[in-house]
Amino acid sequence: MDFSHRRCLLTVAVTAVVTAAVTSVLTPVLFARSTTTPGNGQDVRATSVILINGDGMAAAHREAARLYLAGLDGRLAMDRLPVSGQLTTSPHDPSAAVTDSAAAATAWATGVRTYNGATGVDVDGRPLAVLGQQAKAAGKSTGLVTTAQVTDASPAAFFSRTADRSAQDEIARQYLTFSRPDVILGGGEDWWLPRGAPGAWPDRPAEDPSEGSRGTRGDLVEQARRDGYHYVSSAEGLASAPRGRLLGLFANEEMFQQRPEGEGDVYAPPVDLATMTGKALDILGGNRKGFFLLVEEEGVDEFSHHNNATRVLQSMRSLERTVEVARAYVATHPDTLLVVTGDHECGGLTVENTSDTDESGSAPSTEDGPFPVHGSTLRFVMDWTTTGHTGVDVPVTAEGPLAELFTGKHPNTHLHDVLARALGI
Ligand SMILES: [Zn+2]
Repeated sequence: MDFSHRRCLLTVAVTAVVTAAVTSVLTPVLFARSTTTPGNGQDVRATSVILINGDGMAAAHREAARLYLAGLDGRLAMDRLPVSGQLTTSPHDPSAAVTDSAAAATAWATGVRTYNGATGVDVDGRPLAVLGQQAKAAGKSTGLVTTAQVTDASPAAFFSRTADRSAQDEIARQYLTFSRPDVILGGGEDWWLPRGAPGAWPDRPAEDPSEGSRGTRGDLVEQARRDGYHYVSSAEGLASAPRGRLLGLFANEEMFQQRPEGEGDVYAPPVDLATMTGKALDILGGNRKGFFLLVEEEGVDEFSHHNNATRVLQSMRSLERTVEVARAYVATHPDTLLVVTGDHECGGLTVENTSDTDESGSAPSTEDGPFPVHGSTLRFVMDWTTTGHTGVDVPVTAEGPLAELFTGKHPNTHLHDVLARALGI
């Protein structure tokens, strides 16, 4: 055997090993693109889509959470998704340059920018096709999981069409009659029951006497039961719920108390977002045609409105644990597109050193902290510039089929276009 022949054999052997390795790496990718027409990347789809919304979350919220939870050299699970980009969030509203959650989620759910307060309708009030209903019509299972009211603006835009986001009882009614999500988990029991019917969560509780059943569309919990939903209102009930249609309402309104800082503000949901998400994935994953799941952590936005950084960081921890649950699912189901983003920024938040000599303007600074940098003796503060939303871009990170389309900077309607394509809508 001369030298060149040995080298040739070695090359063959190495090629075989590399081919085997590449094949094993590519197998899940090929499986993930099982609906691909050979040679035509235009037809790439995902079997399933998980969209995670950190309501009110932009770059500073993510960076504060990274420092606090992972440290200077650490990375959050939401930041380890392989693809990242930016989304602009401006609405199409004659009276506002900065979006609310309803217009932002309508852009995601329909691909159409609209006015603040609209869920699933255009600027003239005309109903639009919404992704939650379209996914269902395409044979997929659908679900929504949130620490807000299940009928709050972000989920409402995917599963209902109303001119005014505040009509949460009408939104609940449309869930049962129009979009029919298979899994509905979160807060907001008050909107499912008529006045005088307290339900599992008592009216006028001590922690917030303003809460109480206020629906005007009848007993929608009972209607859901008649429609085949298993209804639960506790962590135990959720854990033991069978596979099948599921309605879980775990609070009168939001699943936390968003009172002013130090006046009864509490972030301690009776069931955490990661647990609700795991249950939703367990149920929805049973559909071989796939699913669309919207997951939302509302505390980031609500506590940013209150400039309450301690509770924002708790909400971000909840969101991060939820992303870990979703990533574990995607690891074993690579035909799933996972997207993590925020609908808009809230609070005009930034992250600063602890120096008190760097303030602008004459008004007192609205800083929170200092907070420890994980694994370090360093500390940082979180500084707020508004109690409202701002128009800065939101980061978007993604993995799975079509994730690469999020690279670059796009309007928030682009998220709709990618999700619709992924779901084959
Ligand atoms: Zn907000």
